[in-house]
Amino acid sequence: MKYHNQKLFEPLEIFLMNDQPFTCPHCGSRCIEIASFSHTNSKMFIQQCLNSSCSFICFEEEDEYYLKLWR
Ligand SMILES: [Zn+2]
Repeated sequence: MKYHNQKLFEPLEIFLMNDQPFTCPHCGSRCIEIASFSHTNSKMFIQQCLNSSCSFICFEEEDEYYLKLWR
C-alpha cells in the first residue's frame, strides 16, 4: 500500500518544555500558544511559530522531571 498523503496524518512533533520561552525549532522565532491541555494530566501545549513564512506547529510538553521539581 502507498500512503501518498502520509504527511497529513503524521502526529505533531513533541518538544519538552524548559525554562526558556518556547522558540521554533526550525527558524528560532518566538511561538504563540494556540491551545493548551494543561487541565489534563499531561501538560501539553500546542505552539505555533509566529514567523508567517514558517508557521510550524508542534506540541510542547512539560517534562515529568520538571513537574516533580516544582511540586
Ligand atoms: Zn518557525
